[in-house]
Amino acid sequence: MKTSFRIKALDAAYLEGVRSRGTDEFGNAVIAVANEEPGGTPLRCCLREAEIGEKVALIAHQPARIGGPYAEVGPVWIHADRCEGHGAPDAYPEGFRHRRLLFRAYDARGRQVDNRIAEGAVAEAVIDGLFSRPDVAYIHARNVLAGCYMFTVERASWTTPETRRGPTMMVG
Ligand SMILES: [Zn+2]
Repeated sequence: MKTSFRIKALDAAYLEGVRSRGTDEFGNAVIAVANEEPGGTPLRCCLREAEIGEKVALIAHQPARIGGPYAEVGPVWIHADRCEGHGAPDAYPEGFRHRRLLFRAYDARGRQVDNRIAEGAVAEAVIDGLFSRPDVAYIHARNVLAGCYMFTVERASWTTPETRRGPTMMVG
């Protein structure tokens, strides 16, 4: 069944930039480590848990590319080397289905307007419910306890900007 939304993992070109530079957008070194924690390393490139021994890295990421005061920066795990990414944007990521997540809804200007906590089993219904509000443009899924960003959910009819806008200069 076709969903009314699209799931967006971290962008492949953005990830290539981070890996080839060896630093994230905030100047932190990308340090590859072998994953040791079963179930504790959710990969934001492939939208699944890392297996034991997979090479992963923790980087700082700003998911709200639109800028503004709600554009938080936080830590996310990625594959340290080029990977397949999440290839099924029309379906909820089954690799995170077992997780209870916080769904934060934002308007087209990047302001948080609503939020829900939901089990993965009912995630689609919760997403559809948030998108029933006409002012909701996109949703960020986050860890319930740590608060870390997991992935973006967009309306099928709307695309969030990939270019990060800087803060507006105050003149006067
Ligand atoms: Zn990956």
